[in-house]
Formats: sequence, C-alpha cells, structure tokens
Amino acid sequence: MAVRPTMARFPGDPAEQEACGVPWGLTLTPFAGRDENDIPPCYGSGGELLPRCENCWAYYNTYCEQDQWSWDCSLCGTTNGLTSASIARYSGPQTYPENASSFIDLELPLEGDGEMEARPVYVAAVDLSSSEEFLELTKIALLAALEALGPGSLFGLATFSHKIGLYDVQGPIPVVKNVFIPPDSLGNLAMGLEDVMPLFSFLAPVDTCKDRITAALETLRPTTSWERTTAAGQSDGVLLGGRGFGVAMEALLKYLGSEYGNTYALARVFAFLSGPPDYGLGQLDTRRYGEQYASKGEDADRALLPEQTPFYKDLAAVAVQAGVCVDIFAVTNEYTDLASLKFLSIESGGSLFLYSSTDDSTLPQDMYRMLNRPYAFNCILRVRTSSEFKLSHSYGHFFPDPEYENVQHIICCDSFATYAYDFDFVNGVGFSRHSKELPTIQVAFQYTIVVPPDETTKLGSSPSIRAKYSLQRRLRIRTVQFGTARNINEIYDGVDPEVVLSILVHEVILSSLENGVREGRLLLHEWLVNLTAQYNDAYKLAEYVRGALTTSQVDVAFTQCPQLQSLPRLVFALLRNPLLRFHEEGVHPDYRIYLQCLFSALEPSSLSRAVYPLLSSYETPDKQAFPRHSLSRAALITSGSPIFFLDAFTTLIVFYSSTANTSLPFPPPQDCLLRTTINKVKQERIITPKLIFIRGGQDDATAFENYLIEEQDVEGSGFTSIMGFVSFLEEINRDVVEYMTKASGNLRN
Ligand SMILES: [Zn+2]
Repeated sequence: MAVRPTMARFPGDPAEQEACGVPWGLTLTPFAGRDENDIPPCYGSGGELLPRCENCWAYYNTYCEQDQWSWDCSLCGTTNGLTSASIARYSGPQTYPENASSFIDLELPLEGDGEMEARPVYVAAVDLSSSEEFLELTKIALLAALEALGPGSLFGLATFSHKIGLYDVQGPIPVVKNVFIPPDSLGNLAMGLEDVMPLFSFLAPVDTCKDRITAALETLRPTTSWERTTAAGQSDGVLLGGRGFGVAMEALLKYLGSEYGNTYALARVFAFLSGPPDYGLGQLDTRRYGEQYASKGEDADRALLPEQTPFYKDLAAVAVQAGVCVDIFAVTNEYTDLASLKFLSIESGGSLFLYSSTDDSTLPQDMYRMLNRPYAFNCILRVRTSSEFKLSHSYGHFFPDPEYENVQHIICCDSFATYAYDFDFVNGVGFSRHSKELPTIQVAFQYTIVVPPDETTKLGSSPSIRAKYSLQRRLRIRTVQFGTARNINEIYDGVDPEVVLSILVHEVILSSLENGVREGRLLLHEWLVNLTAQYNDAYKLAEYVRGALTTSQVDVAFTQCPQLQSLPRLVFALLRNPLLRFHEEGVHPDYRIYLQCLFSALEPSSLSRAVYPLLSSYETPDKQAFPRHSLSRAALITSGSPIFFLDAFTTLIVFYSSTANTSLPFPPPQDCLLRTTINKVKQERIITPKLIFIRGGQDDATAFENYLIEEQDVEGSGFTSIMGFVSFLEEINRDVVEYMTKASGNLRN
C-alpha cells in the first residue's frame, strides 16, 4: 500500500491552503505489496480482534498512546478502554503486528462457508462479426491466457454476432450450440443460456481440456454477411453490422451469475470486440461521430465524451451482482463509442484495452501479464483523517457506498491500481501549531484473495485430499502522520510534482467529461497562472513599479524552489497530450476515452512518464551518454549523441540519428545495456509498451518527432516561428502579471 501526498508538510490552516495554490491531497495504491519506501507490511492474523475507536471507528495503531487499561485514538483523541481480551493480548511477551508497524496486513475470518470451493472462472466472449486477422489475434491471446491460468481454473468459450455461440469442449469433439439474438432493440433471447447448454458443460477444467479448447479456438470463423443478412430477415443483402454485444453480455452475466458464491467468488469475462455493438439490445449509434465531423461550430470534444445510453452502466451493475468482472479488449480503428462501453469494464473492476490495428497489437502479452498478476477482489476501502481535516474529493475506478460516507467498493484491483483524494479543513481553525498531535490519515483496506492449492497444502494438510483453491479475507491498515508547514515556502519545499500531476489529471478528466476538452485545458492553464502568482507572492519576487507590474519581474521558472520547477513543463506536456488535444488535431474520441481510463488508474510515477516521456541518449548501445534530455529538437541536436531512447509509457522508441556512425549495430543487439534497459521497463509495466526502432534519415521518423513537444505550439496550430514551450511560458507570464495586478488592485480598493 503506497501513500504519496502532494506535499510532505501540510498547510497549517485554510488561509495557507488557499494561498499556496498547490492541491492538497494524496494518491493511494492499496494493493501494492510494499509502501512508497519499498517496505512490506507486517503480516499476521486476528484482524477481527484489532481494537477500534468507539468515536471514529479508526483502528488501533502504533501512533496511539496506550496505558495498561486504555488507549488514545491517534485520529480523534478519544480515550478508549481495552477489552480484557486485548489486555491479555498486549500484556504478554509476544509482539503483534499492530504494535510493531504502522503498516499491517491481517487475516480475517471468512464470512459464511469458508470451505467453499473457489475455482477461478474465466470466460472468453469473442466477436465473430469481425475479420480473419482479428480472430487470429484473439486466438493467440487466448492461447497465451491458457498458459497463464493456474491449474484448477475453469474456462468457457462463447462467441457473439447476430447469435450467441456456446462451446462444450469436454466431449471428444468440441460442440457449439447457438441461440439467435432478436434484431430489434427491444427483443430478448428466446431462451436463457442455461437451457441452451448447462453451465457445467460450458465451463471446462483447463488442466484436462487445454488441447480441446485450443481445437475449438481453431474452428472460429467470421460470420459471413450473407449469414447475418438472412438472420436479420433483410432480403436486399445490405446489412450493417450484426454485432449483438449488448444482448450477449447480458445473457452471459445471467448465465454465470447462477453459480456465484458456489463455483466461484469472482469470475472474469474477456470481451474481444472488433467494432461497435450495432445489433439488438445495447446497440450504439455511431453516426454521431460522422455528424460531429460534418457539423460546424459545435464542440466535438464535448459532444463525443458522454455516454449515449445508460445500457452498459446498468450492465456493469448486473456484472457486479453476478460477481463478474469484465475486461474489454477492443481491436479496431473504427469509431466504437468507448464513451458508452467503458462503464462495463471500469465499473465491474475490469480493464479497458484499445488496439488500433491487429498488426502491432500487444494484446497477447497484455493478456498474459494481466493473468499473471495477483489481484484482490470484493475490496472495501476507507480513508480516515484526524479531526481537523476531511476528504474533499475521491478519484478513481470505484463505487461509493450508498450508505456510508467515504467508504468505497472496488470489485477487483491489482497491485498497480491507484486512487486519489484531496482534502479540506473541517473549519477555519486548521492544525494547532502547539499541539503535539500531527495530521494523521488511516487507510483501511479489506479484500479477498484466491489462494492457489499448493500454498494451502504446504501448510500440512494430507496429500490425499484433493488440492482446492481457497479464499482468504484480509485487512490491510496503514496509518501515516504528516508534519505541518510553518509557512508557504515550507509547503513548496515538500511538493511532490508527480502526485500534483496525478490530482490535476483527475481534475481535468472530470472537467472535460462534464464541460468538454476546451474547459479542461482552460482549468489547467488557470491553475498554473494561479500557482505562479502565489509563488511569486510568497517569495516576494514581483516588484511593483509605481503600482504596476511588468512581465520581466515575474519568475515563471520557479528559480527559488526546485520542487516546483518541473510543473510548467508537465502542464505544457499535458496540454500537448492526446488526452487534452483537440478533435481537430486528429485525436480519435475512443483513444481519448481509453487514455482517460488508463490515466485515472496509474500511479504517479507512471503517469508522469506517460505525460512527459523520458528521453535519454547513448554513445553506443552499451554506454549511456545522458540520462535525461528535454523533449526538444534543439536538445537532440546539441547533445550530439547518436542513439536516443524515448520511454513514453505506452510506447518505447529507439532512435538512431541520421548522423550516427554506420558501424553502430542497428537495431541494438540483444545483450547490450540499451536492450537490458528496455526489457526491464517492459517487465515492470502494467501494459506492454510498443517497441519501435527508427533510423533517422532512412525510416519515417514522425512517430519519434511527435514526442518532441517543446517546439510545438501548445494549441496545436503547428510548429511556430517562436518556440512552443518558450512562448507558452511567455503567455503564462503575461497572464500572471494581469492576475497579480488585478489582485493588488482589489486589495487597494
Ligand atoms: Zn478516534
């Protein structure tokens, strides 16, 4: 569980919070195995025995003052009596995790039948209203998935087009049974899937049926347009689509739901989609994309972001009820309206993947990685604060509890999934400067994991008992104390720019979803103007000549404060990111939605890499020249290095300059330093980055040059005669002067 605040020392009171201009909040990665300093939790059992404050329900922790009979809550100060059981527990010679560390992970007793057989269930739903290439890629991905699935897992193969196909691979030859989807947008299936094929014929054990699953995958073919036309009763032979995704998913969720809590505790559905759902219930009207292109004057960036139907949001609720998490893999360059579809994945705890073509898709690698990562499910997350402050906004892919404030439900999350919060003071008083009580937060994270059979049998059970998957419920608690700043300068000195960027990204995503991309950009620009003005004020840098400021007197480079210096560049880069670039610049609306979903779950360092890629250079494939360059053509030219390596999080580019010595091996050989670096980056990442090699002067270098943003105009009107980032700072400078002049005018009036 990593916790990273935007500032190491918190503002003392609301006036200081307001005046500093930096968001006050933190990012939280609850299922990360270690904390932000790479320290693991103290493991133990007896989570249910942990004393809790009778006033604020916070958990007993190492920051609590304790005497023989009682303890003082480190969050609200209430004195709580210890039960006789706790007194016995804590007066003995043994040290318990809660007395040893402020970061603990304790087992909880399972509710209900703890002996329940919890076999992992995976279902692939494959789009047959697609192409041979799409199906080929899907097959490769599913073969990779089969390799990653643990023994004892159950796997089901389903297909959809104008009909739903269910495979029974447990007999000598695979059998497929179909049920037709009514073409109109109101009709339901003629029969439930359970009547088409019993669920236990559909869900096959991976251990014994791997070959037959593979054989079934080999039989997948795209449905022909003739087939679809006939099915839809259209005789003229002209039919668009035939992709009944909505009905198929709804039926599959109901089908699986019958075994929720018996066969499985969490099932995962992998939905492979080659285009928009355009048949039956849940079909999406993709004409809005074309219309927006054609129309003049309307803000396309605003019109294409909201969902056009609540269907997939409602379906996500059905998935959650059925204990199913849905991962969507969209492989298409067609407008698919992910704005409507995304809810089915992110709200059910799944991921949304978008690949624009089958050629360079990293889908099989992503799939393999995803299944190899441990995950937690049925999670409940609660962040508590000490009494002087409270949570203001919460950001990330979770469900707020309908009843309890600040309780969040996360259906499924891996060790990368990150959430963010910002804070506010409870009243005008702030933190007492004389009290020894420090601002404190406590994160409680309850979750379930599936423990594979080999781990439980190791604990000494008889080998004759068939190994079973078991569930474990755990409670992870982290209590963190922070200092308070004595003045604004102290706040600035402790700023973590990566975490500030995380909060800003959440804010601009929300703003653009509500008010359009233009508004999101404006918000970001104004934030930087405000911060720069506040900083100049705090350091008393701007001097007024006869009551007027001139631009030369404003410090836009944050020369007095190294912690703030990267922020203007990060803001500029965020404005140049497809997340916030205009529709007119050719940003595909589905790609924007994909980035929104990806960025709003990334931990701060990864996000910062995605927004401002890391550019380093090499003298040879085995010798690094410079560890970091700014993203500018000028920097490249002046460095004189022959090889550059750009890490943009989703893409890695190795670029050989056109003047590189021809004796340098291209592409870099497998055993060199550069390759080792690349492989390490690929290993550690949540998604598989695309790797591109470019030889300057010979290959098309556009992919690389697009990342050299510092000479680009911030509004995207091309390369300007004055340099992009420089002129952006000049603009910020002018706006700061205007802002400060207005503010000082207001003071005098
Ligand atoms: Zn308390």
